[in-house]
Amino acid sequence: MTQSTLTRSWIASANGHTDFPLHNLPMGVFSLDGSLPRSGVAIGDHIFDLEAALAAGLFEGQAKVAVEATLGGTLNTYFALGRSARVALRERLIELLSEGSTLRGKIEAQGATLLPLAADCQLHLPAKIGDYTDFYVGIEHAKNVGKLFRPDNPLLPNYKYVPIGYHGRASTIRPSGVEVRRPKGQTLPAGQTEPSFGPCARLDYELELGIWIGQGNEMGDSIPVSEAGEHIAGFCLLNDWSARDIQAWEYQPLGPFLSKSFITTLSPWVVSAEALAPFRRAQPPRPEGDPQPLAYLLDPEDQANGALDIELEVLLLTQAMREQQLPAHRLGLSNSLNMYWTAAQLVTHHSVNGCQLQAGDLFGSGTLSGPQRSQLGSLLEITEGGKHPVELPSGEVRKFLEDGDEIILRARCVREGYASIGFGECRGTVVAAR
Ligand code: MN
Repeated sequence: MTQSTLTRSWIASANGHTDFPLHNLPMGVFSLDGSLPRSGVAIGDHIFDLEAALAAGLFEGQAKVAVEATLGGTLNTYFALGRSARVALRERLIELLSEGSTLRGKIEAQGATLLPLAADCQLHLPAKIGDYTDFYVGIEHAKNVGKLFRPDNPLLPNYKYVPIGYHGRASTIRPSGVEVRRPKGQTLPAGQTEPSFGPCARLDYELELGIWIGQGNEMGDSIPVSEAGEHIAGFCLLNDWSARDIQAWEYQPLGPFLSKSFITTLSPWVVSAEALAPFRRAQPPRPEGDPQPLAYLLDPEDQANGALDIELEVLLLTQAMREQQLPAHRLGLSNSLNMYWTAAQLVTHHSVNGCQLQAGDLFGSGTLSGPQRSQLGSLLEITEGGKHPVELPSGEVRKFLEDGDEIILRARCVREGYASIGFGECRGTVVAAR
């Protein structure tokens, strides 16, 4: 990329935009007034309609191949093309949308190419998700939750060797804005010996980073850690809604099941590795005394440059706060640098046994809490299992989520000398069980 990341766009709202300046260009799938879903790129307050732009003859060569792979309402085929197609499309988009672009007139003449993001555009999941895996690599979260159950021994012995994960449910993943129906299930009330059945009473969120898989691997093959970054199509925000009372009763010995599978919410825009390049960091050094990763998970380049510096925020807006017109209340502000393993290590570990990954598979990072009280990524941690309620500006308190509560996840990458980028929002409002 020869252009500076401070290059401006002729789309005025892109310049200084919180989430979508010229150098983000996240991909997504949208529809307008009930039309068939199609692919687009977020830029400022607009969606650049890729289908309309293709029809207008704005792409050729590899960029055209890339856009053609986005047709049909899912990005799976585009994800499978890998990095070179992504880069070709990104370079062409920057050329088209930069200040001084000779094609501005042509794009503006095509009234349908640039659509207002806020108006009537409905955002969908960007890909058909074949498989979803949720990891547990937020070490502060793992320690906090471990402490609630095992005060003397919060981390199990495998934690620092194995990127812990479980197979999640793909069928109930939804884009931002879809309501969150309170699940029902079995719980073991405190002091009881027999379970009861009913609506979850300890509903929680989990602040996570989502990782979209690009090119997959053949069954039986594995992806070396030095190549794993090439298999990641992009990133999003992920809320792993969790029914803590159901989870506590069901999780042994095989892990979470119905306490997680009722819904998972994603931010709909796929932020590419290229957009995140300025925000790459060295993987934070492991604390003194921790083991080195086994050789198959260790790559010098990945250790030097494989972590991401993304600020992650979670906010709560209750029904009463909405009625009083209060702003959403920040519950936590954390960072993706709290991952004990890099995204590349997750890809490699997942495939090391020959498990096939496919374009459009989704990983969750695990809850990304930080070490401080203001950096926690779930109510389970903030209230220490419901012991210490959170006080809200409305005068309300919360141990866990109530009906009408909305959880909003946001993310932001900031670095001196570079345009800041964001992820767009990941929202969900809890509605009563039925
Ligand atoms: Mn989780």
